Amino acid sequence: MTSVLEVQGVRHRYGGTVALDGVDLAVGAGECVALLGPNGAGKTTLVNLVVGLLARQEGSVLVAGGDPRVAATRRALGVVQQSLGFPTTLKVRELVVGAAVRAGLPRSAAGPVLAELGLSELGGRRAVKLSGGQRQRLQLAMALVGSPALLVMDEPTVGLDVAARRAFWATVADRRSRGVGVLVTTHLIEESATVADRVVVVDKGKVVASGTPDELIGLLPDRTVIATTA
Ligand code: ATP
Repeated sequence: MTSVLEVQGVRHRYGGTVALDGVDLAVGAGECVALLGPNGAGKTTLVNLVVGLLARQEGSVLVAGGDPRVAATRRALGVVQQSLGFPTTLKVRELVVGAAVRAGLPRSAAGPVLAELGLSELGGRRAVKLSGGQRQRLQLAMALVGSPALLVMDEPTVGLDVAARRAFWATVADRRSRGVGVLVTTHLIEESATVADRVVVVDKGKVVASGTPDELIGLLPDRTVIATTA
């Protein structure tokens, strides 16, 4: 399988705190890998290295074969954060058009993605007026408009009800079927079992377990299971 993300031997420290201590991880085209672990395990640090927000200290991070700190590689990335705040004045369509233009695409690229995410009718609405589920679909639209090779999502469905979660993951599954790789952090073990091909558990900056959801469920220490809300 072609890897859209390859992380090898990554170490990262903040002053005297070791946040990542030799992490290896790969995500193949069309694969969904869930990153699970307790607070402070190093998940956010790893995600920030993958999306190029943090400069690498040791080891290598390759997204679609390139350095995520380089603009051309960042175009291969779609990022969905947990409950992102939107500027108060901007409308749904404007935000997706902006994301298309930043990806080097014509403004017209926004239309099909708005339709794919069921947001066409909300195009003229200010993003701050959307419901939680609609906001996350908007973020997903902004992340997908550039046709990324890798989608990186940090707790993307926190606060969403079951129906909104299902709709969100259905769109992700459709993109995966077209080869998009997914790295998602979650505290929700049931969700990772439903959506991921592989779960990677990190604790204290190291990968402590890795396997299919079936292989891992039951083996996880209690402290790794942070929340189990449906
Ligand atoms: P959470 O689930 O709580 O977001 P996490 O798994 O994402 O946790 P990180 O946020 O990556 O973990 O943190 C890993 C370690 O690095 C922790 O010990 C944390 O306190 C430390 N850390 C993270 N960011 C900083 C920073 N900017 N300065 C100093 N220490 C940091």
